[in-house]
Amino acid sequence: MAEAAVKQPEAAAEQELTDGFHLIIDALKLNGLTTIYGVPGIPITDFGRMAQAEGLRVLSFRHEQNAGYAAAIAGFLTKKPGICLTVSAPGFLNGLTALAHATTNCYPMILISGSSEREVVDLQQGDYEEMDQLAVAKTMCKAAYRVLHAADIGIGVARAIRSAVSGRPGGVYLDLPAKLFGQVMDAEKGRKSLVKVIDAAPAQIPAPASIKRALDVLKSAKKPLIILGKGAAYAQADEAVKAFVEKSGVPFLPMSMAKGLLPDTHPQCAGAARSTVLKDSDVVMLIGARLNWLLSHGKGKTWGDAPKKFIQVDIEPKEMDSNVEIVAPVVGDIGSCVQALLDGMDAKWPAPPAEWTAAVKTKRDENVAKMAPRLRNNNVPMDYHGALGVLRSIIAERPDAILVNEGANTLDLARGIIDMYKPRKRLDVGTWGIMGIGMGQAIAAAVETGKPVLAVEGDSAFGFSGMEVETICRYNLPVCIVIFNNDGIYRGTDVNKAGSDPATTVFVKGARYDKMMEAFGGVGVNATSPDELKRAVNAAMDSGKPTLINAVIDPAAGSESGRIGNLNPQSALKKK
Ligand code: ADP
Ligand code: MG
Repeated sequence: MAEAAVKQPEAAAEQELTDGFHLIIDALKLNGLTTIYGVPGIPITDFGRMAQAEGLRVLSFRHEQNAGYAAAIAGFLTKKPGICLTVSAPGFLNGLTALAHATTNCYPMILISGSSEREVVDLQQGDYEEMDQLAVAKTMCKAAYRVLHAADIGIGVARAIRSAVSGRPGGVYLDLPAKLFGQVMDAEKGRKSLVKVIDAAPAQIPAPASIKRALDVLKSAKKPLIILGKGAAYAQADEAVKAFVEKSGVPFLPMSMAKGLLPDTHPQCAGAARSTVLKDSDVVMLIGARLNWLLSHGKGKTWGDAPKKFIQVDIEPKEMDSNVEIVAPVVGDIGSCVQALLDGMDAKWPAPPAEWTAAVKTKRDENVAKMAPRLRNNNVPMDYHGALGVLRSIIAERPDAILVNEGANTLDLARGIIDMYKPRKRLDVGTWGIMGIGMGQAIAAAVETGKPVLAVEGDSAFGFSGMEVETICRYNLPVCIVIFNNDGIYRGTDVNKAGSDPATTVFVKGARYDKMMEAFGGVGVNATSPDELKRAVNAAMDSGKPTLINAVIDPAAGSESGRIGNLNPQSALKKK
């Protein structure tokens, strides 16, 4: 007894300790989350250093929004939550845009932000970067948590992971006050407090009756159509989706980020007959796609007058009937649902009426033939079709490359023109149709897949994340950026008639974005013809060197807001 009492202080001195910093790192590692996208600063600078020292990959960006977009798309590509790490208040707010974007797009992501002292923040006493971040984040993501004690880090990280990836995936906020990082606890207790999340996104098996109902409706169709959305691409059930579509014989239409799930050149692909199939179909099966604005809410002119029945396969029960009646809802994860549909089809599943499939094919072939000569033009200055024709053939020759795409005309035309051949190779602006995802997505695509990335960017869109070319050079990533430089937003030709300031939609004429890349040691090329563009992109894809090609496009070539000019409000007043 007496002896033990004497030894105690010595034992305490030898007690192995851990702290908040290390527990967070260990919790992430334990759950296989080994890449962090972020921007260092108070109070997370040391955390970044330690995480790097512990073997995590920590990629430092120039702006949190871009780090956030990187994390969001990493989540889409990997089915694991992408991690974004930011400082408090302003850094957190910059990252929040991406968190809301991830939630809207159903990408799993965790935004981890350091925050200021709770006691000071809650009394609003004016702390450094004071903000009640948890309260702000709650309205913009799927779930938000704050961890106050080191002993709760394991649970906090586990809850964040589960919330991000289970059910409909989305963004999660994890608030870590500065004090937490330095909190010390017994190392053994700390290890025991960590949670390895088992089966984070459990299969959700659809009800057999819902499968039978869906197949009955599909079988009754005269003019069926399958629409594949990015939820289907996310699910990574590629073989099952392909087998189901092929066994059904039904024409399919890929939403933009589902392109390549089956090749755009597949005989059943109706991509080039989009307006016809939306208008004329009688039964539409949605697989991981929502009837939101991108599908005109399932009604109106786009969908024609013929009555339609909708079947919808989705993990989120609330999605059913969101815009129109769904006669056959199938709720479950896409892998399980599509497999159940396949299993439910008898061996002699009838092909859809030949009249319908032939009509779709004819329309598609007509449209493809009409487009072909425009894509081969060698005009100088380049127009969109000449430049995109080149990029289209490059992707055909390099189907493993990842295409990142944003802009207005650059987005709308590239989506239609560039065929994709493999799943999850096209990463674009997603549900909001936002600008600014470009460099963040390009970086994460290169980091997560190791494949070459081709980022096709409008000059305006690129501006939102352009400083990240330094990040691309710093990490020496195989990213080739092609800027469709038409001197402005939509077009570079607007004139301000009221004064000497430039018009609101134009940029510096003849700007040389390629010089930005050269400033950081990458390759810059100014391309003025389709031939020059082709040479430069191929060289970049072969070398894997960070490259930026300034593709000079006719400033008069674009149209207002690309394909969605109709969304601009119109003044009722007569133009003077
Ligand atoms: P798109 O823009 O391509 O039409 P959306 O983002 O609108 O795609 O829709 C994706 C849908 O996919 C969402 O409704 C989401 O709930 C669903 N989803 C995402 N992941 C899965 C999954 N693993 N299983 C089933 N549905 C999913
Ligand atoms: Mg432009």
